[in-house]
Amino acid sequence: MGEVIREPANLRAFEALESNVRLYSRLLPDVFSRARGSVMLTDGGRKVIDFLSGASALNYGHNNHEIRAAIAAYLASDAVVHGLDMATPAKREFMETFDSVILRERGLQNYRFQFTGPTGANAVEAALKLSRKITGRQNVISFTHGYHGLSLGASAVTGGRHYRVASGVALSGATFMPYDGYLGTTIDTSDYLRNVLLDESSGVDSPAAILVETVQGEGGINVAGRQWLQSVQGIARDVGALFIVDDIQMGCGRTGDFFSFEFAGLSPDIVVLSKSLSGYGLPLSMLLIKEERDAWQPGEHTATFRGNNLALVSATAALNIYWRSLAFSQGVQRMGELMRRRLDAIASEHGNSFAVRGRGMALGFDCHNAEIAEATTRKAFEKGLIIERCGPRDQVIKFLPALTIDLDTLNQGVDIFEVSLAETMKHTRAA
Ligand SMILES: *Cc1c(COP(=O)(O)O)cnc(C)c1O
Repeated sequence: MGEVIREPANLRAFEALESNVRLYSRLLPDVFSRARGSVMLTDGGRKVIDFLSGASALNYGHNNHEIRAAIAAYLASDAVVHGLDMATPAKREFMETFDSVILRERGLQNYRFQFTGPTGANAVEAALKLSRKITGRQNVISFTHGYHGLSLGASAVTGGRHYRVASGVALSGATFMPYDGYLGTTIDTSDYLRNVLLDESSGVDSPAAILVETVQGEGGINVAGRQWLQSVQGIARDVGALFIVDDIQMGCGRTGDFFSFEFAGLSPDIVVLSKSLSGYGLPLSMLLIKEERDAWQPGEHTATFRGNNLALVSATAALNIYWRSLAFSQGVQRMGELMRRRLDAIASEHGNSFAVRGRGMALGFDCHNAEIAEATTRKAFEKGLIIERCGPRDQVIKFLPALTIDLDTLNQGVDIFEVSLAETMKHTRAA
């Protein structure tokens, strides 16, 4: 990844003992010992503002004390922590709360819950498997720059060549179609998708499912429009394919609403949730499956760690604390607009050679240049800000602060980014 980062001595154990595959301990070369809200503390006592939030697994911040109280009480009571998928009060409470606070409030009735293995990729696999079982078809339509995880089935629907090559076997069962905006602003790529899928001789097999992110997180904060998403859902219905929204990164409030597809009024056959679902950074993944699509036989898809009760307890607490009124959602929209205005202003300071895009509190600052993005994020970390890059060449700087961040911390973080970018640009011009 470009320049080599000089690692301080206290990372020696990680260099010696941990596999080469480690990534973030290279990009953020320090030892992190404590965290609270939007601030992480290094071993050496340095405070670092976190705009990565565990790739949006920490939408309610690190160690959210209100959520922590529910977990602590649950542990202290000797309630069941692990029980495979046995019935527990914790699971009942989660499902009933999610059903009433999230689904019914949004007119999304008649969904069933499938708790899968704990990772996002586990849930994606389950969604693909169910779609193939229902339709008897193999092909899945995925989109350019899409990211859905790195198990084999999920890798097959993931665009990045870096990941695909690493699989080591032929990845099959997917056809990639151009995402919204892939061919510029004047071409509606859903027209192409419709033609290809309705044409008996297009060479593209009828799909079991169309799988989409409403905003591509890893792919570079690419934002799909309302009409495009509605068209894609309509096409899925017309060709007898399941319509799946991967809301792993953009769900749980990241774009302002609980689900990232609410603004387009979609009703997916399957919704995939993970990352911030547990509310506390604990692993928890699930599918919402339309009742009439719930074609599983008992035990046909299992996993040892599915619906872990501790994670269900924190998930329920997050719903109760943040989603019983509209205030939280409105706060996210407001904060997102403030952040966007600041990023727009920074882009225009540099003569608009950069582009800002996103929805809610998922924003991307496209540097159109991997070196500038890399140098800026590295400088930012030295100055006390964690920001990550995304996009096909890692040229987009991704802003995913906790949705609970206060305005001062948000501004401090953006200030650090602004200075880091300015220094990078000065250096670039001088070179
Ligand atoms: C992170 C992510 C995944 C994969 O989740 P893991 O828990 O890393 O397996 C899948 N889809 C999207 C959109 C993601 O952001």
